[in-house]
Amino acid sequence: MALIVQKYGGTSVGNPERITAVAEKVAKFREDGHDVVVVVSAMSGETNRLTGLAQQINERPEARELDVLLSTGEQVTIALLSMAMHRLGLDAKSYTGGQVRILTDSVHCKARIVSIADQKIRDDLKAGRVVVVAGFQGVDENGSITTLGRGGSDTTAVALAAALKADECQIYTDVDGVYTTDPRVVSDARKIDVITYEEMLEMASLGAKVLQIRSVEFASKYNVPLRVLSSFEDGEGTLITSEEECMEQALISGIAFNRDEAKLTVAGVPDQPGVAHRILGPVSKANIEVDMIIQNVGDDNATDFTFTVHRNDYNIAKDILENVAKELGAKEVTGDVKIVKLSLVGVGMRSHAGIASKMFETLAQEGINIRMISTSEIKVSVVIDEKYLELGVRSLHTAFNLEQKGTP
Ligand code: ADP
Ligand code: ASP
Ligand code: MG
Repeated sequence: MALIVQKYGGTSVGNPERITAVAEKVAKFREDGHDVVVVVSAMSGETNRLTGLAQQINERPEARELDVLLSTGEQVTIALLSMAMHRLGLDAKSYTGGQVRILTDSVHCKARIVSIADQKIRDDLKAGRVVVVAGFQGVDENGSITTLGRGGSDTTAVALAAALKADECQIYTDVDGVYTTDPRVVSDARKIDVITYEEMLEMASLGAKVLQIRSVEFASKYNVPLRVLSSFEDGEGTLITSEEECMEQALISGIAFNRDEAKLTVAGVPDQPGVAHRILGPVSKANIEVDMIIQNVGDDNATDFTFTVHRNDYNIAKDILENVAKELGAKEVTGDVKIVKLSLVGVGMRSHAGIASKMFETLAQEGINIRMISTSEIKVSVVIDEKYLELGVRSLHTAFNLEQKGTP
């Protein structure tokens, strides 16, 4: 008998039939004697619908009110799922994040979980109930509803699993595991059986949206065995675990990509101490996260400074830079929103030279121009034109034989 935290994503609870199917799935786990805590997302499309509604009322809605609105999506699902369970004769009880008391900081729309009061859940489990918790939400010290950022239900589930010391956290979704790359882009992408927290964290950070980044951080920090599985078919899914327990160590684990980036360049900046700070200081003050940064070698005492930001932040960042450029006496500010970041991830890179050059060679053979490059111990990222995304991912997937197990 185990304690399992299960999370069902939007598609898995997308209509009444699917909600009933989830209830039936949970009933089977109960029959096998397991204790189950279920975390659910809003029904598919609902969070986008609510965001759209807000936009129609006010183009810049206050983040606090947006959270009040967005959190309702998950509240609908917990009630419906509990009702479905009752119909099957299961004892079940639903809780919003605030009712559990998932305490977060007050950064609306991207709040972080600070603590979880688990006593109520433990009592319910002891009484033989299934506990159904709304994902993606919490409450801050003032009692305001907060949300955890898109994909945040994954983090609710892992955080609950950590707090309850669950035996496993299962993330049920519309694919049957973590793949070498997004199976919707590369049809011969291969399902990975086991992957380390570290690699999964890179994949998630670099754009693989199958798990929210913070959920993987949590899992790694508290050593929560995490599994990604399909809601619709049986299977072992993908286990995300520590390096010691990860027998299958591929050189390259996968390719991630991020379509949400945009690139900005301040050209003709005087090449002197403090320039990077004067450019990026105001950007970070505006709470805009900067990703890749490149400063060219100075020529004629002037240099070009390029970096990437989230596409949503592009316009604000550009306005800021126009001002900075004037102050610095820089030549001009240019930008491009039609770019993507493509990354190769794998712990094996630590001990193998030549991965990056093979990546560059492959892209060159396809005539794909690389606009920016950055590397770390276990990843190589490039920025390329958006139109080459699919071609780039597919050619790298083939070049590194990722469709075959245990290669290259
Ligand atoms: P949910 O609504 O269940 O949270 P998401 O849409 O957030 O589901 O995540 C599942 C999706 O993640 C898949 O449908 C798939 O298109 C995408 N995805 C991106 N990269 C990967 C990857 N490497 N492996 C599996 N799925 C991936
Ligand atoms: N409903 C939220 C979203 O669509 C949270 C989640 O599904 O994880 O991002
Ligand atoms: Mg998700």
